[in-house]
Amino acid sequence: MDEFAIREPRPDDAEELEALITAHFSEGSSYGVDLFVADSWYHGGADSPEKLFDRHGYETIHRDPIERPAAECPKCEVECTCEAALAVRRTGVTER
Ligand SMILES: [Zn+2]
Repeated sequence: MDEFAIREPRPDDAEELEALITAHFSEGSSYGVDLFVADSWYHGGADSPEKLFDRHGYETIHRDPIERPAAECPKCEVECTCEAALAVRRTGVTER
């Protein structure tokens, strides 16, 4: 497994971070959804964003798989089920 270092943000991070956020919002809006979640640690457990949103009346309509071997994932052991991003929408919004 790779080692990850956590550091304080630097001023020159802002531009890259803003570009990343803009790209995610653009991606999310292309699915016409209420919410687009980028979460590289989604692992399908009870605390996964998909299940949390499900409990609050959202359905997942798009998943972006990470597609990496389980050996490279800090959570999964047999097969990596992590998602890079989820697009969710409120259940019942389009059914009136
Ligand atoms: Zn995984």
